[in-house]
Amino acid sequence: MKYAVIGSGSKANSYIFSHDKFSCLIDNGYSFVELQNRLSRINIDIGTIKFILLTHTHADHIHGVKTTARKLKIPVFVNKEIDISAYLPSDKIDLRFIEKEKTYRFGPFYFLPFETYHDATGSLSYSLKIADMTFTVITDTGKVSNTMFNIAKKSDILFLEANYNKNMLKTGPYPKMLKERIESPYGHLSNSDAIDFLNNLFKGESKLKLVYFCHLSEVNNNPEVLEEEIISNGTFNIPYIICPRDKFQEGFNPINLEINENLDNYKKPYNYITNARSRKDVLLF
Ligand SMILES: [Zn+2]
Ligand SMILES: [Zn+2]
Repeated sequence: MKYAVIGSGSKANSYIFSHDKFSCLIDNGYSFVELQNRLSRINIDIGTIKFILLTHTHADHIHGVKTTARKLKIPVFVNKEIDISAYLPSDKIDLRFIEKEKTYRFGPFYFLPFETYHDATGSLSYSLKIADMTFTVITDTGKVSNTMFNIAKKSDILFLEANYNKNMLKTGPYPKMLKERIESPYGHLSNSDAIDFLNNLFKGESKLKLVYFCHLSEVNNNPEVLEEEIISNGTFNIPYIICPRDKFQEGFNPINLEINENLDNYKKPYNYITNARSRKDVLLF
């Protein structure tokens, strides 16, 4: 099992999950060549991608979907509520229409789409089960819901949006309208929204083992500011990784306790793994 955040943030977003030469992509904001280059960093052949799950139609998520689906001749799963014809032509792409809160299977993957609250009609995100691991992506949502809460606590690994620091957004250069859009219940999650969500999750039973903070704004956030907020306000007790904007972030297995000597090769992202009991707790897939 391998997985990675191919990149996240306002420029482009994509996630890969790969098992036994069968891979699933969630979104793709990258060109085919860039996707290929990024996948080669963890030795995943682009030809192993067998399907794409689309969250919503914003360019940072859909930009590279058409080309990837056409070149690889693979299906794209989209919410039936989205009028997708303006983005993906059904005569050239194998579109499969899905509904929120129904569980689907494709090859060895099970996936559960759930509603997100965002200014794009029919926005969804996904929980994905493969080889006894459950991964959930919660980004591009202005608020969290009970459904998200229940799905997240049953997941092993969570990719959670931490889009902006409230003060940086408030005092930053964005026009008033854009600031209001981002802060609205149909915008993005702030750092404190994300931290509160995790704190609440750990007040009860949770299976969660590792969190990736994703979709950081370039203008209204940075990894150091987020880390400070987590240290001051976070009471959740699991390791986390902050994914700097647009940076490829390899997946780690938080379950095995063996030492991976190669971790030093991954110093940069690893420096952001804090709150772990020890370095030995984290193993590269
Ligand atoms: Zn969006
Ligand atoms: Zn986005």
